[in-house]
Amino acid sequence: MENKFKYSNNNKRYHTLDYENHQKHHGKVCKISLNASFSCPNRDQNGNGGCIYCSKLKSGEFAGNQHESLEEQFTKISKMMHQKWPNAKQIAYFQAGTNTYAPIDRLKETFEPFVEREDIVAISIATRPDAITEECYRYLDSINQRKHLIVELGLQTVHERTSKLIHRGHDLACFENAVKKLRALQIEVVVHIINGLPYESKQDMIETVQYVNTLNIQGIKIHMLHILKDTLLATLYEKQPFHVLSREEYVDIVVTQLEYLNEEIVIHRITGDPKKEELIAPTWLLKKFCVLNEIDKEMVKRNIYQGDKIIKAQK
Ligand code: SF4
Repeated sequence: MENKFKYSNNNKRYHTLDYENHQKHHGKVCKISLNASFSCPNRDQNGNGGCIYCSKLKSGEFAGNQHESLEEQFTKISKMMHQKWPNAKQIAYFQAGTNTYAPIDRLKETFEPFVEREDIVAISIATRPDAITEECYRYLDSINQRKHLIVELGLQTVHERTSKLIHRGHDLACFENAVKKLRALQIEVVVHIINGLPYESKQDMIETVQYVNTLNIQGIKIHMLHILKDTLLATLYEKQPFHVLSREEYVDIVVTQLEYLNEEIVIHRITGDPKKEELIAPTWLLKKFCVLNEIDKEMVKRNIYQGDKIIKAQK
C-alpha cells in the first residue's frame, strides 16, 4: 500500500529522522557518537547513585572509546560509517555522560574543533536540564549561530512518583525551564522518554507523550527500559522483580503513543539498543529490526499514522 504520510520517505507511518535529515541536509546523515569523558551531577552530587538504569559507561554504550582523543574517536567511527554510506554527511554526537557539566573553558575546548569543521553538518549535545549554567546557555547560543545545534534532554516520564523511583534528580519545572530557554534561543530540542519504567501503566506512558505535545520540541527518542548488569535497576529487579514489557506490549504502547504524538515531532529513536553482554532483560530488544518491523506492521494493521488522534480531535 502506498504510504501517504508526508514526513516519511519510505514505508514508515511516523516522522522519520532520515526524512528530516534529507530536508535539512539534503542527503544521508550519520551520527558519530563520542565520549568526551564528562561526568554527571546526578552521580556526583545528588547522593543517589544516579539514574537507576545508568550503566558504568553513563549511557554511552555505543559511543567512542573514552581513552582515545575525540578526534581519534571521530576519525575511527567516521571511517566505519563511510564504508557503509560513502556520501553520508556527519553529526558529532556527544552522547556519554552530561555534556555541559564542566567549566566553560573545557566545553569550548571540547566543542569548538567540531563547530569549526566543515565536514560536520550539526552538533548534538546530550545533557541534563539542571546542568546548563547561564554562561553555558550563552555559549550554546553562540554554537547555534554557527552550526546546526541539537540539545538532547532526558524527561523519561511525566510522572513525579516514577521520577523519584528512578532517581531522575530534577523536577518537571526544571525540565520545562530548560526547554523554554533553549527554544528562546531557537536551539533544536530532542527529548528522551522511556517506556516500561517500573510500575507505569500504558495510560501513564500515553500521558507522557501527551505532555510532550505541549512543549515546543522538535524531536523525541522513545526508549524501552532495559536492565543492564551492575546497575541500581538490576539490584531492584533482583530484590523486587517488576513487570518487564513483552515485545507485543511494547509495540502496542509505542503505536498508541505515535497516534497521540504531534506529527511534526521527529522520531529519532523508537526502541532500545542494549549491548548483549550487558543485558539482563528484556532479551527481545536484541532483535532491533524485528521490533521496528512489528511497529510498522501494527500501524498498517490499525491503519494509523503519527498524530492521527490529534488530527481527528481537531476535525
Ligand atoms: S543523567 Fe545520564 S549520565 Fe547522569 S545518571 Fe542519569 S543516565 Fe547516567
